[in-house]
Amino acid sequence: MDQTVSNSWEQRDKETVFHGFTDLGTLNVDGPVVLTHGDGIRVFDVHGKSYIDANSGLWNNVAGFNHQGIIDALCDQARKFPGYHAFFGRVADTTVELSEKLVELSPFAEGKVYYTNSGSEANDTVIKMLWMMHRRNGQPQRRKIITRLNAYHGVTVATASMTGKAYNAEFGLPLPGFLHADCPHFWRFGLQGETEEQFSARLARNLEELIIKEGSDTIAGMFAEPVQGAGGVIPPSKGYFEAIRPILRKYDIPLIADEVICGFGRTGEMWGSVKYNMEPDVIVASKCITAGYFPMGAVILGKDFSDALTKASEEAEEFPHGFTAGGNPLGSAVALKSLQVIEDEGLLENVNKVSPRFLERLHKLGEHKYAGEARGVGLMGAVEIVADKVTKEPLPGELQISERIANKALEKGLICRPLGQAIVLGPPFIITEKDVDEIFDILEETVSEVFADVGL
Ligand code: PMP
Repeated sequence: MDQTVSNSWEQRDKETVFHGFTDLGTLNVDGPVVLTHGDGIRVFDVHGKSYIDANSGLWNNVAGFNHQGIIDALCDQARKFPGYHAFFGRVADTTVELSEKLVELSPFAEGKVYYTNSGSEANDTVIKMLWMMHRRNGQPQRRKIITRLNAYHGVTVATASMTGKAYNAEFGLPLPGFLHADCPHFWRFGLQGETEEQFSARLARNLEELIIKEGSDTIAGMFAEPVQGAGGVIPPSKGYFEAIRPILRKYDIPLIADEVICGFGRTGEMWGSVKYNMEPDVIVASKCITAGYFPMGAVILGKDFSDALTKASEEAEEFPHGFTAGGNPLGSAVALKSLQVIEDEGLLENVNKVSPRFLERLHKLGEHKYAGEARGVGLMGAVEIVADKVTKEPLPGELQISERIANKALEKGLICRPLGQAIVLGPPFIITEKDVDEIFDILEETVSEVFADVGL
C-alpha cells in the first residue's frame, strides 16, 4: 500500500484529520488505519484487510461491530423520535425508561440518573454536583478532589486534573486542589516482605494522612476506578477498598466509582464496584452503556446523594448545568437495547464463560522471559514487559517495545493496545474461546518476532 498516493484514504486523513492520543511521528511514517465497517469482533479497513479488535474499540464495542438488534433499536427510535433534550423538565419517554433500568441495575435501592455525552463530562458533572452540594450545605471550602496516581478519568480541564498521568503536564495540569493518592498496584509498589493486605493497609493509612494534612473538611470527594483501565489494567490490591472505605466515611467524603470501563460486565460482574466492595455514593457510567454505538455518559446517584443534590438545587432554584444532547432519545434507545443484550442475551454470561480461557492464555504469555506481570479480571488483561523479572526494571524507553508489539500485531490483523510497557487487551463480550486462542496465538508469535528483531 503506497501511503503517498494522493487521494488515498490515508493521504486524505493526513491532510484533514487531527488525531488525539496518537504518536504523530509514527502516524506520518505508517499512516492511519481507515476503517469502513465491522463484523462481529472484526473491523475492516479501506483495503479490505480485517483485524480482530481485541480492545473492543475503546473498551466499548462489547456487542461487536454490527449487532443487528442494537442497530434496529437505533433505527426504530430514529423513526419514532430522533432527538430531544432533558432541560426545563422535558424528557423523551425512552430516556425515562432507561433511567428506570439503570437504577434497577445499579447497586442502589433508589436513585436518579443524570445524562452526559461522555465519561469525561460525567465525571466533570459530579465535581460540580459535589461543589454545589457542599456549598449549599454550609461547607464551601470542601473543593479538593482526591483520585489516585495512574488513574484515568477523562480529558476536560477538571477530569484531566483528576487523571494521574504525567502527560497532562503538557497542559500545565493538574489544577490546584486535585490530589493524587497512591496507586493500588501491589506488584509494582509493594515493599519487600510486605503482604498484599499489609500493602492495602499502608495505602489506607497514607490516604488518611493525606486527608488530615490537607484538612478533612476541604475534601469534596474521592473518585476511583474499580480496576484502573487506561492505567494498564490494575485490579485493586486485596482488601484495598475495604480498607479505605471506613476512612472516607469517617471524614464524610463521598466515594464516586468511575465505572466507565468496568460498568456493565467487563470484570465479570455487572459493576466493578460491587465486585470490589466499594460501596460508592455515585456511579459514573459510559462506554458499554450504548455498546459503543452512541455517545453517552450517565451519572447514577444513590438515594442519599440524590436527595442532598435535589435539596441544594431546590434552594438554588435549579441545578444550573446541562448538555444539549444529554438524554438524547436515540442514545437512550440504543442504551436500553444494549443493556438488554448484555443482561438478557447472555453477554455477561459469556464474559464469565470465556474469561477463564482468556486469563489462562494471558498468564501463559506472562511466562515469557521478558514478561514481568500478567494481570487481569473478567475480559480485561495486561502483560507488563520488563528487562528483568526480579528487579522489574523496564526495558529502555527508546526500544518502544509495547508499540513495536502492537504495530507488528496490527500487520498480522490483530488490534491490541500498548500502554506504557504493557500490552492491554479488552475484547468484546461476544468473543468465543476459539477467538481467544486466535488472539493469543497471534500475540505469542508477534512477541517472539519482536524480541528477535530487537536482538533480545
Ligand atoms: N473514566 C474512565 C475510567 C475511562 O476509562 C475513560 C475513557 N477511557 C473516561 C473516564 C473518559 O471517558 P470519555 O473518553 O468518554 O470522555
